[in-house]
Amino acid sequence: MRDRSYLLDGLRCSECLNDNTLWLDLAAGLVECRGCGQGALIDPDHEGDAW
Ligand SMILES: [Zn+2]
Repeated sequence: MRDRSYLLDGLRCSECLNDNTLWLDLAAGLVECRGCGQGALIDPDHEGDAW
């Protein structure tokens, strides 16, 4: 099992504005929206800012 993705419950995508479509991919270290496909690297310095 290499799929280690977790739903970021309660968060809204800044691109498509859908709720609960953001998934955290621990293996790749990024967040991806499964609604619009928007992806973003996790930036610890700005945690809580972009979302
Ligand atoms: Zn989206």
